[in-house]
Amino acid sequence: MAKPAAPAHTPMMQQYLALKAEHPDKLVLYRMGDFYELFYDDAKRAAKLLDITLTARGESGGAPIPMAGVPFHSLDTYLARLVRAGETVAIVEQVGVPGLSKGPVERKVARIVTPGTVTDSTLVDPRRETLLAAVALEPASAAARAGVAIVNASSGTVSLRDLQVSELAAYLARKAPAEIVHAESAAPTLRSLLGADAMLRARPDYEFTSVRATDELTQALGTATLAHLDSERAPLALAASGAALAFVRLVNGGARLPVSTVHIERASEVLEMDAATLRNLEIVQTLSGAAEPTLLSLLDRCETAAGSRLLRARLSEPPRDPAVAAARHAAVASLARDQSVPFDRVQDVLRGLSDIERIASRIAMASVRPRELAGLRATLATLPALGETLAASENPLLQHIRTALAVAPEWHALLARAIAEEPALAVRDGGVIANGYDSDLDELRAIQNDSGAFLAAMELRERERTGIPNLRVEYNKVSGFYIEITQSYVAQVPVEYKRRQTLKNVERYITPELKTFEDKALAANDRALAAEKRLFEELLQKLAPALDGFRKAGAALAELDVLANFAERAETLSLSRPVFTSLPCLELAGARHPVIEALVDQFIPNDLRLDSRRSCVILTGPNMGGKSTYMRQAALAVIMAYAGCFVAATQATIGPIDRVLTRIGASDDLASGRSTFMVEMTEAAAILQRATPNSLVIVDEIGRGTSTFDGLALATAIARRLIARAQSLTLFATHYFELTELANDFATCVNQHVSVVEHGDRVVFLHEVKAGPASRSYGIDVAKLAGMPAEVIRDARRELERLERERTHAVPQADLFATVSTPGESSDATVASTLLDELAQLDADDMSPREAHAKLAELIEAARKR
Ligand code: ADP
Repeated sequence: MAKPAAPAHTPMMQQYLALKAEHPDKLVLYRMGDFYELFYDDAKRAAKLLDITLTARGESGGAPIPMAGVPFHSLDTYLARLVRAGETVAIVEQVGVPGLSKGPVERKVARIVTPGTVTDSTLVDPRRETLLAAVALEPASAAARAGVAIVNASSGTVSLRDLQVSELAAYLARKAPAEIVHAESAAPTLRSLLGADAMLRARPDYEFTSVRATDELTQALGTATLAHLDSERAPLALAASGAALAFVRLVNGGARLPVSTVHIERASEVLEMDAATLRNLEIVQTLSGAAEPTLLSLLDRCETAAGSRLLRARLSEPPRDPAVAAARHAAVASLARDQSVPFDRVQDVLRGLSDIERIASRIAMASVRPRELAGLRATLATLPALGETLAASENPLLQHIRTALAVAPEWHALLARAIAEEPALAVRDGGVIANGYDSDLDELRAIQNDSGAFLAAMELRERERTGIPNLRVEYNKVSGFYIEITQSYVAQVPVEYKRRQTLKNVERYITPELKTFEDKALAANDRALAAEKRLFEELLQKLAPALDGFRKAGAALAELDVLANFAERAETLSLSRPVFTSLPCLELAGARHPVIEALVDQFIPNDLRLDSRRSCVILTGPNMGGKSTYMRQAALAVIMAYAGCFVAATQATIGPIDRVLTRIGASDDLASGRSTFMVEMTEAAAILQRATPNSLVIVDEIGRGTSTFDGLALATAIARRLIARAQSLTLFATHYFELTELANDFATCVNQHVSVVEHGDRVVFLHEVKAGPASRSYGIDVAKLAGMPAEVIRDARRELERLERERTHAVPQADLFATVSTPGESSDATVASTLLDELAQLDADDMSPREAHAKLAELIEAARKR
């Protein structure tokens, strides 16, 4: 294609465009003097996201260039906002010396900031893990299995899990990675599984091999082999981990992520919940995506960011082992206010402690800030006292935590010696290393601080030694340090004085001692800064053997924070300690929905019993009666109990639950183009595939998105399957009364309903759940409450009466639409078909408007004659 030749770009824009061409999918921040500039579309996008001014810069290539910029010293603030908005940013720095060669200063991409790999303390959310996932699909065309590596760059941990492709979306929903790396060839599959919102990052297929992965992981771990890992259990995830670590290396300008632990997850480790369940139960975010009110927002009163992170993970993936949960319950009980280690005393200590788990990783990455080390020091200083406090309890878990908190005192001592009381923000500012830590540095600082004193002392000494009363030791910028002697005393000057300068009445000299001092003093500042940088780096090396201990202590603090938080929540929200049994069972007395309870004036508690002899409850009753609430509170009780928290009930007995499976609400999944009905059926199918006798299954209305008979048929079949085959602990809310008859067919199925009282033509919801089916559906009453016009309500009541009469006469549905024809007369059907025949012979394109009008009039007449 021949385009008119555009005027050439300026050399600087040519350089920019070359760099931009390598990073078309990222915002390129291009350093120019005191600013980072963005150009063209990047500028427009950033201007919108950051609310900064969009300007134009001169002309290049024949047109003005849209431009936006941020001052270099506030880069972190703007980066944080871009990263939160899910952007990936390439930062271009000047690497050459300005003016050294012709053309623009040499520049290159110094680092790339992506949502899943950031670790900078100013960029990551302290109360949430920032995770990078890598997914590998089985190469066979069947692609039945997938492997996921989850890399937590902030803590230097990797977890691996191989699973069925059908489980992938649920797994990723629980982990909620900020970014997903995958092989190019897997893109279509992943896009359709994960939807349009997933932040996918394609990498070449060859990066996903076990050979490369073994190489990446051994180097990251600093081990010779992976033999200790048992990685055969997750071969696909292992391959994925190689691509993930290579990606981190790529964005960090070649620096490897130091990995402290690799964990291979087992399928049976956690209470399984899929994406829809997490969403519908509003565990960590509301249905509309807000952070509150959710179970997490209600339960999170943690004192530390690490505690909040752990709590979020516990609620998204509660461990499945009841023994683990029971141990936590025991610890929560032992932290009650009236026990030997009350939670508030623990919380007082935890408040303000540093995030030593993340600090440990930043030490390993050499990206730690001086003040973080001061924070680490302060935290290490409080650990012994915290350990003492915990010693008063006999709870095994608290004792375990206490052991993990016992960091060797030498590390605190080292930090106390090495780091200044209040260090500067950055090492390059100086004032980070403490006085007395290094004698060379002390001397350099002494020179800066005391050069005046040195000069005075030397002057006095030299006057005495030489007997020259007006000898002066001085300094100026041009001549440096010198000893000044007036002409009259020149004869008395000692031999080791070397003349430096002769002025009108004076001579200036230098001595070896003064020369040494001068060299030191002039370079002292630079050298002190260089020394601090070196000492800081050496300090980080010295701390390397301590990192494991810091991480363990950090994890123990987070655990303690969560437990103390649970103890506080238990007291404040009146939660009770659940009891585990070994048989499938969920028995709750006086259960409440803790999140809704906090929102309404008076919450009505309800009981629930599900076990193998009574595994399915069919729940009927009016809309708004409290069915969803009742079912959700059962699920929340299970999740809270397994997360180690007490539950919102007066009594709770819970069996070994393996999964919480839900089909709730009607939501169109517009992103993936699936209708409500399709979403319903997909979720229901997934439930039927996975449900076991130990699963808690919640179905809140099913079969609404299709015709009544279809829907009823499907709902019945699904319920039967759950009762007879899966035998799961099931709560099934439905507006199909026909389903209440299942209780006649299955001994393990019972009916319950939410109760209402009727005052004249008004209904009042009692939110009480009672035995037996509901008497009627109250849909019209609810519509009336919702403010439907009185006329519509009256009309609806009449229509309902008519329909109910018709139903009792049992007209088969198909007949309603049949035409009834009487012999001898021309039936409607015959007229219609004659008209249709005539119409079919016409061709609209062939007719003038006039002809069309005439024909229409003729047809209307014929139709009226029938
Ligand atoms: P349904 O599923 O039957 O349509 P919901 O469970 O959605 O009804 O309940 C509707 C509303 O009623 C809730 O948002 C809540 O405000 C209130 N509600 C439900 N259950 C209770 C209860 N046990 N105590 C108090 N209010 C409740």
